[in-house]
Amino acid sequence: MRSGRCIKATCKASPPLVSQGFTRDAGRGPSLVRTSIMPPNVPDCPFEKRFPSQLVRDDAFFMSLAYNQAIEAWRQDEVPIGCVIEHGGEVIASAHNTVEASNDPTAHAEVLAITQAATHLGDWRLEGCTLYVTKEPCPMCSGATLMSRLKRVCYAVPDPKMGCLGGATDLNTLPRVNHHLELTAGGVLEDECRVMLQAFFKLKRAANDVAHANDSDAGSA
Ligand SMILES: [Zn+2]
Repeated sequence: MRSGRCIKATCKASPPLVSQGFTRDAGRGPSLVRTSIMPPNVPDCPFEKRFPSQLVRDDAFFMSLAYNQAIEAWRQDEVPIGCVIEHGGEVIASAHNTVEASNDPTAHAEVLAITQAATHLGDWRLEGCTLYVTKEPCPMCSGATLMSRLKRVCYAVPDPKMGCLGGATDLNTLPRVNHHLELTAGGVLEDECRVMLQAFFKLKRAANDVAHANDSDAGSA
């Protein structure tokens, strides 16, 4: 019981992840303690952030900010997926995956951004909001986009394996769901976001192969 109270008190005292700077500033990522324990085989991110004009608040503008969040994720050895939520022409939430750092399988960019947007608005109903994400939402995140009553979702890269807004399946077309999203499925910075994801996994595999080879060498020495 003592440890239970302890954990609860700690959680309560600590601000939620989304308010720890994970996202408010798209140009800067959180300063995670994780950097000190990051494995040595994290490949450097070869991509640069985008600096879209503030004067043209179109889909490419907001997706560029999601793209920048994906770069932040890479720099922290997270799968490079980024997300922002727009309301009234302004970004009210932005996040990237923090699954590894927080050791939380639900810490996907979309879920973190949705929580942050609801906190910002003081309302769990995100009516009038558009969520931009660099890859099609997974089953969990697709469900969250519906449950939060987002007006619209725009994703860059379709995911035929796990995507649930048109890729593998489409939760948005369930006949008895009483809320439906407007959907822009692919086409906005799609190539750029796909190239980043593919490069991350390719470099990660290569880095892991080298690490394993070194381990084998050390073991046989
Ligand atoms: Zn997800």
